[in-house]
Amino acid sequence: MHLRIPALCLAFTAGMALHAQTSAENPIRITVDLTQAPRKWIHADMSIPVQPGPQTLLYPKWIPGEHMPNGPADNLTGLIITGNGQPIRWVRDDVNMYAIHITVPEGVAQIEVKDDFLATAPANGFSAGASTSANLALLSWNELIWYPQGHPSADVYVQPSVVIPTGWQYGTALEKTGGDATHPAFKTVSLEELIDSPLLTGKYFAEIPLATEVTPKHYLDIAADGPEDLNLNPETINGFSNLVRETGAAYKSRHYASYHFLVTASDQVAHFGLEHHQSSDDRVPEKTFVDENLLLLSADLLPHEFTHSWNGKYRRPAGLATGNYESPMIGNLLWVYEGLTDYMGNVLAARSKLETPAQYRDYLADDAAMLDARPGRTWRDLQDTATGAQILYESGGGWDNWRRSTDYYQEGDLVWLDVDTQIRKLTHDQKSLNDFLSLFEGLGGNTPPKVAPYTFDDVVKTLNEVVPYDWAALLHERLTSLSAHAPLEGIERGGYKLVYTDQPNEIELARTGAGGGVTEWWSIGLSVSADGHIIDVLVGSPADKAKLGPGMQIVAVNGRQFSGPLLNDAVRNAKGNQAPIELIVTNAGTYRVVGIDYHDGPRFPHLERMNGTTDYLDEIVKPMTSGK
Ligand SMILES: [Zn+2]
Repeated sequence: MHLRIPALCLAFTAGMALHAQTSAENPIRITVDLTQAPRKWIHADMSIPVQPGPQTLLYPKWIPGEHMPNGPADNLTGLIITGNGQPIRWVRDDVNMYAIHITVPEGVAQIEVKDDFLATAPANGFSAGASTSANLALLSWNELIWYPQGHPSADVYVQPSVVIPTGWQYGTALEKTGGDATHPAFKTVSLEELIDSPLLTGKYFAEIPLATEVTPKHYLDIAADGPEDLNLNPETINGFSNLVRETGAAYKSRHYASYHFLVTASDQVAHFGLEHHQSSDDRVPEKTFVDENLLLLSADLLPHEFTHSWNGKYRRPAGLATGNYESPMIGNLLWVYEGLTDYMGNVLAARSKLETPAQYRDYLADDAAMLDARPGRTWRDLQDTATGAQILYESGGGWDNWRRSTDYYQEGDLVWLDVDTQIRKLTHDQKSLNDFLSLFEGLGGNTPPKVAPYTFDDVVKTLNEVVPYDWAALLHERLTSLSAHAPLEGIERGGYKLVYTDQPNEIELARTGAGGGVTEWWSIGLSVSADGHIIDVLVGSPADKAKLGPGMQIVAVNGRQFSGPLLNDAVRNAKGNQAPIELIVTNAGTYRVVGIDYHDGPRFPHLERMNGTTDYLDEIVKPMTSGK
């Protein structure tokens, strides 16, 4: 295995004293107190084995799965270190904000470290975003832990425990070894496994076993803000059980001892998913399991994060497999790590019956149409969206279609559909991407959690084992293209074409139904929130020509107070007319009347079946198992 560690990091770690003395028998001990989590305050007590002399302690910086240096050091407070009851002063490194230096006095074999994490971040962003409410808390151990510099995270040992509010329950992939209901203690694990094993706790909590005939065991652990949010219907639970079965069929392996979906259903927390080897941190709107629209809009989240247990955690691009939290990560293969996962997340959602084949096609139509109306693709290629991931994840605020964003997710859907259909065509439907997946993700069969790094050449080599083809050329072309248009070859080879009609597809309807605003993206070039704020303007569109921009607010449409349906009607009614659509727009207190000269009516993306072609797309989303 070859690890690409940048020169900067080698310079940084060379020559330092290796003072850490942790072992499985003498681990770091950490107890995290979550009883004040409803007040957004989390406290930890640690004891860290040391030797006398200078010592550097580190706080995790590069968080696996987030692909950027965003460890939440800004909210780490109350750091107090003692040895044998005496205070030990710490000094932050002048350059590395995630390192502190101490001098351990003679006779001190372990230091006591106390710190607090202020969980005050707003409800956006990723794992460092809001993670608590009055009724629940999601603990990411990297928020609180310090560890001695100089060792791979797999070689640092930690024995964790937590204190949770009375009456709350919890779920985690960690193995309970002692303690009691409010103060459970867990088996000693490596620092790597600890940070990879968050803990979800809550007042309203359900643990639902999934696909109980499958070994290892799988659990859906949900903490919500109200008891009614836990009323999953049997079809939804069956869908998640199907997901367990379908991954077994597609990936022909499992790389964990058990798996916990840790689902936070709350409007008070950030909404996203973060993969782990034996669990996933899935944060969704509170009503997700009792609202059809929200459930559809989250259909691919658990399939995506679960897929990462294979693609991302077990098989990991060499540049992301740094083995610690300090070395910069290289994201140039994120179009495999995230792109292939995004493709399979959507496919598995359909195979598991978490969405219908028609809904799958509507998602794909949306992605394809969004990427096809993405003028930024004429200056920034797909490869650069991956290489530049760490500057793109937190970008936003408008003009995303010109900047491009982490497009390797959605464009990954198109690239891997292209590969899947190409394999099917080349082998006369005898093989498919499933054959690649069983070789690539199932390397070595079932294994415990571990990392098997790969390179671009490994991806190409495995594809060639499935069926010989110039895969390298195909992938290079997709990665470096500056074409104004998205690669739609996979959709067309799959038997469909991207078309636009005046009717919104099911996904658009679900977004509107869930209060997600108005899309007139493919008509006048506007995406607008439910209260009229312009989220984005498509470069080159009629709205762009009318000099509209993100952040402005539409207050009136054709002389009447703004509403989403009114804007939709205005676009519909302008068809065949000469008069422009008239908007009154406010921009930081300045009002302007704007005419949008557009007369082609609403345009929403759909996939339309092409007669006389092979229907690979429908085959791809057929279940591989019979389900239950
Ligand atoms: Zn992902």
